[in-house]
Amino acid sequence: MANKIIITIDGWSSCGKSTLARQLAGKLGYTYIDSGAMYRAITLYFLRNHVDWTDNSEVDAALKNIGIEFRFNEKVQQSEIYLNGENVEYVIRDLVIAEKVSDVAAIAAVRSFAVAQQQKLGEQKGIVMDGRDIGTTVFPHAELKIFMTADIAVRVERRFKEFVEKNPNVTLEEVKNNLEMRDYIDSHREVSPLRKASDAIVLDNTNLNMEEQLEIALNLVNELL
Ligand code: C5P
Repeated sequence: MANKIIITIDGWSSCGKSTLARQLAGKLGYTYIDSGAMYRAITLYFLRNHVDWTDNSEVDAALKNIGIEFRFNEKVQQSEIYLNGENVEYVIRDLVIAEKVSDVAAIAAVRSFAVAQQQKLGEQKGIVMDGRDIGTTVFPHAELKIFMTADIAVRVERRFKEFVEKNPNVTLEEVKNNLEMRDYIDSHREVSPLRKASDAIVLDNTNLNMEEQLEIALNLVNELL
């Protein structure tokens, strides 16, 4: 496929955005970038270094010390996020990070820092990026924009299954509260709130399995190429 495009996948927490983005990137030979991982890595840095993120000057100073990159891991055939040279792909998935990340992601300076890097990663096109503001702010001119949604009960169940494997003490209630809290903060913040771009196509995967959602998305891509 000669003409590479940019595909954005936005939507609510735990809708399966990253699963679809990864599948699409694999099929098309594109790069997959998990923009949420960047906000999670920044949150990890802030927590580890006791950065008071209500203080703008502390945030600005901390961001100067943060280097984020994605490296492809051949073994798992997946790109993984590095924070100042350390692979943090797995630690950033912890509930401790999930509880703070939406507050950190609402900070204007944090967003400009992350968005600038995301835009750079898309310069060559041939990219699938998932997040909350990718189709609205990061790549407003993307060729294909998907907005994913699914029933809250289904989302909670899926995320709970993932968490409970790593941490048997986690409760369904905790997971539900976290998803609802993040969705609320993400869609109510001042800077780049979670919104469906006017030209995005809604994909509700409540009753779809992974193969079915991939097929729908691939059909959308094929219409464009
Ligand atoms: O996608 P994921 O659930 O890992 O994202 C974690 C958090 O990062 C979201 O709840 C949101 O607060 C923030 N985020 C964002 N903008 C993006 C991607 C993620 O604000 N483009």
